[in-house]
Amino acid sequence: MEPKKKTGLVVGAHSADFIWRAGGAIALYSQKGWEITIVCLTYGEKGESQKLWKDPAMTLERVKAERRIEAERAGKILGAHEMVFFDLGDYPMRTSVESLERLADIYQDIRPEFVLTHSLEDPYNFDHPEATRFAQEARVVAQAHGRRSAAAAIGAPPVFLFEPHQTEQCNWKPQVILDITSVWDIKRKAFESMDAQEHLWEYYTRVALQRGVQGARNSERKMKYGEAYQRVFPLVTEDLV
Ligand SMILES: [Zn+2]
Repeated sequence: MEPKKKTGLVVGAHSADFIWRAGGAIALYSQKGWEITIVCLTYGEKGESQKLWKDPAMTLERVKAERRIEAERAGKILGAHEMVFFDLGDYPMRTSVESLERLADIYQDIRPEFVLTHSLEDPYNFDHPEATRFAQEARVVAQAHGRRSAAAAIGAPPVFLFEPHQTEQCNWKPQVILDITSVWDIKRKAFESMDAQEHLWEYYTRVALQRGVQGARNSERKMKYGEAYQRVFPLVTEDLV
């Protein structure tokens, strides 16, 4: 039997969030042979599909279908192992106990070694911190020994918070800068598959360049593009350098 591959879990509120905010990590770890599962809680059909709504004949179902195709195409470009769509509805996004159990099942099935999700605060977008709360609660539910069985309970995978659109207002700090230079072309290609949000392409390229400069300054790496995260839990290590 082949040894189980290492796994990571990405939980985004809207179907495209993972591309801008975690596309580099997904591409990097997929290239290392990890299986990355992306959960999109909604299609971003109302709040993050402005371009599609310019067509007066557009319907909610068509927007959802198009956003799903785009997200799947981007996930494929990044090398994601699996994409799961919860279709909870956005603006506002509301979760249920059933959806919480469904996400806890995913945690227990794939046993991720890291989790990526949104910032804890975002005064511009209430779906994002709600997705974070939900992802974190499901993680804790999946740690419960009495849930399926003690053996099914997961450990304590570290949680990394994506860079939000306006960091200062979200009280978010870059505590980890991932060097994504080697996979930048893949991330950019995934951006470009998102026709509905073309206005974000250059913006997120600038963000990656900025974090790249800061990453180089905080290390001896010669890096050009970075993707930053904030940690939720302490780093546990016996190695400080
Ligand atoms: Zn979003």
